[in-house]
Amino acid sequence: MNSTKKSHGKKNSYKKALAHAEAQCADSGSRLTQKRKVVLQGLLQTGQAMSAYELADFCRDELGEAMPTMSVYRILEFLEQEQLVHKLKLANRFVACIHITCDHKHAVPQFLICEQCYKVSEISIKESTLRTLRNNVETAGFTLASPQIELNCLCESCAAA
Ligand SMILES: [Zn+2]
Ligand SMILES: [Zn+2]
Ligand SMILES: [Zn+2]
Repeated sequence: MNSTKKSHGKKNSYKKALAHAEAQCADSGSRLTQKRKVVLQGLLQTGQAMSAYELADFCRDELGEAMPTMSVYRILEFLEQEQLVHKLKLANRFVACIHITCDHKHAVPQFLICEQCYKVSEISIKESTLRTLRNNVETAGFTLASPQIELNCLCESCAAA
């Protein structure tokens, strides 16, 4: 879709991503409150897929007050709607979108998830791959509910260990 070879994540500090997220929420008429911000910060800082429980712990340490897991779930739902966060259904964990500071349109994501350390890489699925998958699903008489793909992997360091 776009040909720029812009790299994602890493180089940008999480503060920059947070500032972008805040502006984006303001644009869409919502608000990135302090608590929402801290949840997103947790995901951006670790760069790993985190469970709501792990995020609740992070928030408690960061805010100095307990955060109920239910609140974390509600916040994650909001962040998901704003396209700042993705839910990994199979792992039941959440990950910050790597395209927060990008201008281009978000493509259907494919997540490579390390099953040992939960490091995650978000890459875009090619249109042709998506078409093949969709065909397979329809041939089997199923309807695709979500094209998002989650693959169980080992990251480089876990594979080396
Ligand atoms: Zn994304
Ligand atoms: Zn991007
Ligand atoms: Zn790993």
